[in-house]
Amino acid sequence: MSGPVKAWIGLGSNLEDPLAQLALAITQLASLPRTRLLAQSWFYQSSPMGPQDQPDFVNGVALISTELPAEALLDQLQTLEQDHGRERIIHWGPRTLDLDLLLYGDQQITSDRLTVPHPGIAVRDFVLRPLLDIEPDLVLPNGLSASGLLATCPDNNLKRLSLG
Ligand code: ATP
Ligand code: CA
Ligand code: CA
Repeated sequence: MSGPVKAWIGLGSNLEDPLAQLALAITQLASLPRTRLLAQSWFYQSSPMGPQDQPDFVNGVALISTELPAEALLDQLQTLEQDHGRERIIHWGPRTLDLDLLLYGDQQITSDRLTVPHPGIAVRDFVLRPLLDIEPDLVLPNGLSASGLLATCPDNNLKRLSLG
C-alpha cells in the first residue's frame, strides 16, 4: 500500500454560471474517496483558447492529497465532469466543467488515457498563475519553475475574480 500523493487539479468552465460550477467542483473534490483538499487558488477569468466564439473561461487550481491511483483519480474527475452535464462537442469548445490532472506527485505518466504532467501547463497562464497562488516556489518534475514559465507564456488576459 503506498501513501498519499499530492495531486494538482486544473478546473475550468465557461457555461452555466462558471464560478458556481467551480465552487461546487472544489467541494466535490474535497469529498472524493481517500482524498483531502489541501488548498485552492483564486479563480481567474481568461480568454478562450481555440474557438473564439465562446464565452470567457473561469479557471482555478485545487491541491489535494489522495490515496487514489492516478487512473482511478481520472475516473473520478471524469465522473464529476459528467455530473456537471459536460458534453464534448468541439475540441477546446465550451464546457460546463473541465478537470485536468495537472501533476500527480512528481510522477511522469504516459498511458492511453493519461499524460502527466499535463502537457498544457507550461504554456497556459490560466494554469500557472493559480498553481503559483498555492505554491509560489513550485518546480515541475522537469526542473522548470512555474514562475519562470509564467514569465514567457502567452497572455490570455487573466483577471482575478473576487469570490464574494
Ligand atoms: P487539454 O487536455 O488540452 O486541456 P481538454 O481538457 O479540452 O484539452 P478533454 O476533452 O477534457 O481535453 O480530454 C480528452 C482526454 O484527455 C481525456 O479523455 C483523457 O483521457 C485525456 N487526458 C490525458 N491526460 C490527461 C490529464 N493529465 N488530465 C485529464 N485528462 C487527460
Ligand atoms: Ca483542459
Ligand atoms: Ca480535460
